[in-house]
Amino acid sequence: MISDHAKALAAILGDESRVVTQPQVVERLSRDFYWYSPVLRKQLDGKVGDFVVQPVTAAEIQNVLRYCHANRVPVTPRGAGTGNYGQAVPLHGGVVLDLARMDQIEEIRPDGVAVCGPGVRLGVLETEACKTGWELRCYPSTIAKASVGGFLGGGSGGIGSVAHGGLRDFNTVRAVEVVTMESEPRVVVHDGEAVHEILHAWGTNGLITKIWLALAPAVEWSQCAVAFDRFDQAFDFSERVATEAAWTKRLVTTFEWPISSFFTPVKQYAPDGKALIFFLIASDQLANLEQAARSAGGEITYSGAYQGLRTIPLLSDYTWNHTTLWALKTDPAYTYLQCGFDPAIAREQMRRLREKFGQEILFHMEFMKNGSGKVFPGAIPLVYYTTEERLNDMIDFCREIGVFVANPHVNNVEGGGRYRADNVQLLAKMRYDPKGLLNPGKMVTFQPESETAETATTR
Ligand code: FAD
Repeated sequence: MISDHAKALAAILGDESRVVTQPQVVERLSRDFYWYSPVLRKQLDGKVGDFVVQPVTAAEIQNVLRYCHANRVPVTPRGAGTGNYGQAVPLHGGVVLDLARMDQIEEIRPDGVAVCGPGVRLGVLETEACKTGWELRCYPSTIAKASVGGFLGGGSGGIGSVAHGGLRDFNTVRAVEVVTMESEPRVVVHDGEAVHEILHAWGTNGLITKIWLALAPAVEWSQCAVAFDRFDQAFDFSERVATEAAWTKRLVTTFEWPISSFFTPVKQYAPDGKALIFFLIASDQLANLEQAARSAGGEITYSGAYQGLRTIPLLSDYTWNHTTLWALKTDPAYTYLQCGFDPAIAREQMRRLREKFGQEILFHMEFMKNGSGKVFPGAIPLVYYTTEERLNDMIDFCREIGVFVANPHVNNVEGGGRYRADNVQLLAKMRYDPKGLLNPGKMVTFQPESETAETATTR
């Protein structure tokens, strides 16, 4: 049956080479970085799609979805597969819809909006945008590989978020075009507030086929690493730079020791026993930043011009969730949480966490701006994992003391902490995927049409 579906879809595309059935390739394209979580590893190891389809246009996606709808074949969209929560891992087999070939940049408009396909790599978009004086507002540390569609489907923010907020803020995603999973798939454009129906829905309620993404005017950036004897000094200084509007920054990341000892390629910039801050700062403010850091008791361990993603060292390669990757390379027992501390009591919250969990939690701060324009200490702390119970205790304790947690150890949209309380993603799924065939199992509050009908008749 499965190969019949593959054959039928190859005929629909008119190109056998874009329907991949080789088991090793299908397995590779069914995985993402869920293995950062020991909890998800247990749940998701061995989950694979049946075959991979590689469309190049929205019209082809309409044809593929029409067939899959008629034959009840599940479809899991895939960008570059760098997600962390098994978002792109198919739970019920079916088609892995690999969007990497939809990688056209249509235009970088003079008003600073990029119009592109979902498979465009964020790094390519950044490079193109820079040619006309623009740059991404925010991007994940996986920029080189991650796709724009995958970032909208599963990401939240990253480098740049300290100045521009996350993907969902400040109208950064101007519009998205989606293809629906219906008997006659439609092409629908969501703009303004309606983009939130699709953003971070893990591809469960429509296939994103075109994106209008707002950019920021490009800045000439420099990188700077500053070490402090103690974490509290580093935290104070980084918070100051992150929150003072006068500093033009793209990245403010603070690590307590021994996190920076995991960064093997840049160890020379991470003095033993010290807390470290990595900055991306406007080049015309670099000298001022260095002076301010020294006055606050810091030692500049590295500074230099940032010349794009090929810059060496590339400090952003050690920030956001890359920090966790470096820790995992050193000791596979490490995992992580995604937190938001309360700026008014962050020091007290960290003190209480240290008191209760000791070195089981290591502080890695990522300052971010929220949708109201306030900069706060976001964090991706490292967690030394022992048991799931202990991890859940830590999450519960964080919430008890007012630390927000977007739990990265769950495999559904609702559990991750970035679900919208107004249920707009669910409502869009009910309209666009009534049979529940898009990335099934990932939106747990959704009941497919037939089940709803069955439930209704049994009542
Ligand atoms: P994928 O993993 O392929 O897909 C992500 C989700 O979107 C899946 O549910 C998929 O089904 C869905 N999807 C993909 N394409 C489409 C489409 N066209 N239409 C509808 N749904 C679609 N994330 C951050 O936000 N910030 C970070 O700083 C960050 N750092 C990271 C660091 C490391 C080392 C790793 C491993 C991950 C990190 N991530 C981060 C997570 C991830 O890299 C980003 O969210 C990235 O943007 C995902 O893009 P992708 O193309 O790999 O998406």
